Amino acid sequence: MKHADLLKIANTFGDPVYVYDAQKIQSQFNRLTSAFSSVRNLKLNYAAKALSNISILKLMNSLGSGLDTVSIQEVQLGLLAGFKAQDIIFTPNGVSLEEIEEAAKLGVRINIDNLSILEQFGSKHPDIPVCIRINPHVMAGGNSNISVGHIDSKFGISIHQIPHLLRIVALTEMNINGIHMHTGSDILDIDVFLYASEILFETAKNFKNLDFIDFGSGFKVPYKEGDIETNIEELGKKLSSRFNTFCKEYGKELTLAFEPGKFLVSEAGRFLAKVNVVKQTTSTVFASIDSGFNHLIRPMLYGASHHIENISNPKGRERFYSIVGYICETDTFASNRRINEISEGDILSFHNAGAYCFTMASNYNSRFRPPEVLWYKGKATLIREREVFNDLLKNQVDVKDLFNIKTEKVAVK
Ligand SMILES: *Cc1c(COP(=O)(O)O)cnc(C)c1O
Repeated sequence: MKHADLLKIANTFGDPVYVYDAQKIQSQFNRLTSAFSSVRNLKLNYAAKALSNISILKLMNSLGSGLDTVSIQEVQLGLLAGFKAQDIIFTPNGVSLEEIEEAAKLGVRINIDNLSILEQFGSKHPDIPVCIRINPHVMAGGNSNISVGHIDSKFGISIHQIPHLLRIVALTEMNINGIHMHTGSDILDIDVFLYASEILFETAKNFKNLDFIDFGSGFKVPYKEGDIETNIEELGKKLSSRFNTFCKEYGKELTLAFEPGKFLVSEAGRFLAKVNVVKQTTSTVFASIDSGFNHLIRPMLYGASHHIENISNPKGRERFYSIVGYICETDTFASNRRINEISEGDILSFHNAGAYCFTMASNYNSRFRPPEVLWYKGKATLIREREVFNDLLKNQVDVKDLFNIKTEKVAVK
């Protein structure tokens, strides 16, 4: 997407606005697919929570992706987006037995991450195959440190509980069809990831009827210049070869599955916001935009660094800025950031706005959530409208009779 395209989108749909480049999503999907081309059965299940607009889900479906879901509502969204039930995997954490049963009834693959629910589910539904989520207690610690951390993680069934797990499986006579891990940490060191994979292979040998091994996600994408990203091609080469050897030992062609979210959609997204105020103080120059952590919370929540460009003045002299929002709290997007000179009314473009951006947006400060636009084959299509005033009141119950307040009609838009 060129600056001119983005400016036109901001002009047409207003600001702030999210824009997603379908072609970038497709090229990331293809990159991952070709990295693992030597594996006969590869299944990519897009992690819906990264960006769950139904048009994005349909795009993923058209690419041949499956869907990774973490709530019954995401399962339903996936079915609505045309995914076949068997192409959806439900990998929740801490949800009720009832919710898992509801998903099972819809025919999607079930992934269970604790022994209590596994025992209850297996006792009631021994005929429904289940995948188990393992916590290998391996954490990428940078520079090839293998720290046996993650012992505090709430995710997965500890590798040390395998004897108890096997007992439950034997006693309930349930069928385990998949082994899964998702450590949640960024894969920077491929050897650490391969080490965790060995634990998964070792675990897999305990089960005779597996269909797949799911290696989760954690693919890291660059957020700013100089950031390290996961070397997908090297990981593909090494893990594919190891996986193919394992299948021979196991005696069956298993499916190798992944659940990428960020890798597929992060870089495809741009968030466009307008500068309301340029404010020179004694210590910095603030540029306040018509947004805040109600629309993009990652910088404040995780300290994420999103690259920011001034697309209205890309050739302007560079200055240091603090980019802040209009929320009545400290909502700093970036400090001491070198950006082409900013004037009030300029449009700033935030990179990596595809994953965990809109899906975490809220109505804090009673602001509307922004629209979403899909850039597909050189054309901008609105895929979510900007909210309107009535959306803020939707589901609110006005207790008219309690307080006897006389109200006047308010013109809203
Ligand atoms: C969030 C999540 C993912 C996706 O993680 P990314 O870092 O966005 O790729 C995959 N699997 C599960 C179970 C998740 O909860």
